[in-house]
Amino acid sequence: MDFRFTPEEEAFRQEVRDWLKDNLPESWVGDRFSRERDPQTWNVYREFAGRLATKNWVAPAWPVQYGGLGLSVMQQLIFNEEMSYHQAPIGYSTIGVGWAGPTVIVYGTEEQKRKHLGGITSAETMWCQGFSEPGAGSDLASLKTRAVRDGDDYVINGQKIWTSGAHYADWMILLARTDTEAPKHKGISYFLVDMKTPGITVRPLIDMMDNHGFNEVFFENARVSRDSLLGEENRGWYMATTTLDFERSSIGGAVGARRLLEDLVAYARETRLNGERLVDEVRVRTRLADAAVDAEMGELLSYRVASLQSRGLVPNYESSIAKLFNTDMQLRLAIAGLEIMGLYGQLTPESRWVPLKGRLERQYLWQTGMVVGGGTPEIQKNIIAMRGLGMPRQ
Ligand SMILES: Cc1cc2nc3c(=O)[nH]c(=O)nc-3n(C[C@H](O)[C@H](O)[C@H](O)COP(=O)(O)OP(=O)(O)OC[C@H]3O[C@@H](n4cnc5c(N)ncnc54)[C@H](O)[C@@H]3O)c2cc1C
Repeated sequence: MDFRFTPEEEAFRQEVRDWLKDNLPESWVGDRFSRERDPQTWNVYREFAGRLATKNWVAPAWPVQYGGLGLSVMQQLIFNEEMSYHQAPIGYSTIGVGWAGPTVIVYGTEEQKRKHLGGITSAETMWCQGFSEPGAGSDLASLKTRAVRDGDDYVINGQKIWTSGAHYADWMILLARTDTEAPKHKGISYFLVDMKTPGITVRPLIDMMDNHGFNEVFFENARVSRDSLLGEENRGWYMATTTLDFERSSIGGAVGARRLLEDLVAYARETRLNGERLVDEVRVRTRLADAAVDAEMGELLSYRVASLQSRGLVPNYESSIAKLFNTDMQLRLAIAGLEIMGLYGQLTPESRWVPLKGRLERQYLWQTGMVVGGGTPEIQKNIIAMRGLGMPRQ
């Protein structure tokens, strides 16, 4: 196996790096985590997405006719790696570009593609994902939100939870039950819903980082037209699994761990405890070496997913392996950093004594959520056991 990139791919990497040098917002570089609680941060994301749009780089791997550049999967991997390594503010379009858009490309009518894809690639519309409910997370198919046909419309009632970014989103990918008699997987439909629809209420949920990232979303007789339905009625579950495959296969993010590790190594070199450099302590060296091996493995698992995609295959349990390993690896890295820094590591970004702008404390809390979002470790392991190892369903 050859892990080297081609000269063209390396040239593309350099182009992305050069562009980032000129376009990463001044106030953002190296200071992301101290700004996260500032409500203005959202404007940074929005503005950066607008800059990407001028290069057609919001969804560069999408086909040209849908507003992308038709880049190869490997170029997309490189692009994601550079954005992740440089901690670029790209959260604005994650759901639209990564999950909603690709599902519309696969299952949408021409009209739906025309209506939605251009807004995503021009960074004019932002999407959220209304899948989870208070009683339906891992067991998503037991969701209870109802969509009932009424003439040319569907009338939606129910509640979603943990809806990331719903307070900014223009559109939602929504799963709702359209048949209560059918087996639970066969009575679900997939909708593309305008968040301005009367009857939709978004209420904030404040997370343990003290941030407003996700929400509860309530539907009270929210009326949407029939052309909001994606694909066939009652076939939503199968489209949702496609969305989740896209969600879990997020390639290139593992490189963010390499950046944090490099910064931790620099910190351990520069910091002295009782006259000794931290990096000279065996305990610290071992932790950093383990983290380096971990980060390398995370990247290789991402490469495996990208390599399958580049051959036109749809990664499935391979995405679950990468998701399971990479989210846990980044959490382990945060824990290693916190241990190396001792009590200083627990300081929040606002503290004048905080090392590395408080990234470790933030990373620890953030990554704890990332392990759960997109499916918990147990759910990933079930997928790996059944689809990867061929073991029977419990
Ligand atoms: C940061 C973050 C962002 C999120 N954003 C969104 C979003 O934008 N949109 C959205 O729809 N959802 C979102 N979610 C919700 C996420 O998808 C769910 O939290 C996740 O699927 C788990 O569901 P749950 O929270 O209901 O936990 P539960 O399903 O209740 O799980 C509780 C525990 O039981 C275990 N468990 C459950 N079933 C099994 C099983 N069959 N075998 C073994 N163990 C099992 C789980 O592993 C877990 O440990 C987000 C979550 C987080 C943390």
